[in-house]
Amino acid sequence: MPKTIAIIGAGAAGTFAAANLPKSDAYRVLLFEKTGKALQKVRASGGGRCNVTHQLFDIPELIERYPRGPRWLKKTLHRFGPQQTIDWFEKRGVSIVGEADGRMFPETNSAETIAMAIWETALRNGTEVRFHHKLEALQRVGEHWKLTFGGHEPVLADAVLITTGGSPQLSGFNLLQTLGHTIASPVPSLFTFNMPGNPIIALMGVSVPEAIVRISGTKIETTGPLLITHWGMSGPAILRASAWGARELADRAYQFTISVNWVPGLDEASLKAKFVQLRQQDGRQSVGGKNPFDLPKRLWQFFLQTCGVAEDATWATLEAAPQRKLLEKLIRDPYTVSGKTTFKEEFVTSGGVSLKEVSPETLESRLHPGIYFAGEVLDVDGITGGFNFQHAWASGWLAAAAMAATSSQS
Ligand SMILES: Cc1cc2nc3c(=O)[nH]c(=O)nc-3n(C[C@H](O)[C@H](O)[C@H](O)COP(=O)(O)OP(=O)(O)OC[C@H]3O[C@@H](n4cnc5c(N)ncnc54)[C@H](O)[C@@H]3O)c2cc1C
Repeated sequence: MPKTIAIIGAGAAGTFAAANLPKSDAYRVLLFEKTGKALQKVRASGGGRCNVTHQLFDIPELIERYPRGPRWLKKTLHRFGPQQTIDWFEKRGVSIVGEADGRMFPETNSAETIAMAIWETALRNGTEVRFHHKLEALQRVGEHWKLTFGGHEPVLADAVLITTGGSPQLSGFNLLQTLGHTIASPVPSLFTFNMPGNPIIALMGVSVPEAIVRISGTKIETTGPLLITHWGMSGPAILRASAWGARELADRAYQFTISVNWVPGLDEASLKAKFVQLRQQDGRQSVGGKNPFDLPKRLWQFFLQTCGVAEDATWATLEAAPQRKLLEKLIRDPYTVSGKTTFKEEFVTSGGVSLKEVSPETLESRLHPGIYFAGEVLDVDGITGGFNFQHAWASGWLAAAAMAATSSQS
């Protein structure tokens, strides 16, 4: 009699797990999805391009991209890291290519290619898909797990993989709490910062390739491109800061200040030396005309204006007080943040099932043999750049391998 493997949630991790459970006489695989569609987030991901993984093959370096779960991930990503992801898709005819910033996408630039490769593999494996099945209860009955779905017959399973994704509310994890699992309460990660009324928003659309963002009163400091939007600031430097600060910023109700260094290669001493050099070598040039820091012109002019520097002032005539202001502006520019905006390109919730209660080798619950977890339902989340999918693939793959091995034992 074949064993029954039930997967709950046809998202990235669940469907990828089904795609890695080869056809076998030892088990059948049932994939339950509460909606009428599979892989919805994969299809919407990366602006429709799907940022599948990241070109970071050194695992100790890779795990630093995960604000929650790095040590635990060391074990999972060692066995299924970015190289394994690339190989998996290549084997199914999908080339994965890297961009200059390390993000990796399908060569087709279409998320649909990724979704179809996973979906077709899962179906070829003989996965039986049940749409409109929302898991409502999970109970141990003798040797089995009894799964109860609204409006459908209950199902008995030997192994259950939970891949229901993140939830913005703790109540979304009720079912797992009733099993006795500890849940780190969910808070949003990867959001942009609102700065209502700040004059800088007049520069919406202006971006710098690299800035350092520091969140005041914390140790959080991130580096990366920064984009000024019509509501505040966005771009990788901001999104990374939101991920590292997810919990602290939620505790502060998203009211905090940041300080921006617009010239990351320079600190106070080197900037002072640069001003001396400009005064000596380019003394006759106007401060407004010569932008010595390669900043976007509109941003430089905005800085001069807010520091009270006349655009036709020359470097030689720049007085000490406005120069001091300019220096502060360039390396310690403070902004008050009031509220956040969801980053629609990639939104994740931090929080979920405590990693202490899940084996990183098998993804099996340490509390309940036969229950497995993968994907965002776990208390793992990465910064933007393909790290969240990488965790979904790795955990889905490992859970599939463990369930296949256990189910094949007589
Ligand atoms: C718009 C958007 C774009 C993104 N882009 C990227 C990107 O480019 N790169 C990247 O790395 N990450 C990206 N992410 C994050 C990434 O999509 C998630 O981290 C990933 O999908 C998590 O996979 P998962 O399988 O755990 O959850 P999901 O993909 O969310 O799947 C969970 C599934 O479970 C189902 N479900 C939930 N509860 C039940 C239940 N009780 N019974 C049955 N079914 C249930 C849900 O309907 C859903 O289909 C993006 C996220 C969003 C929202």
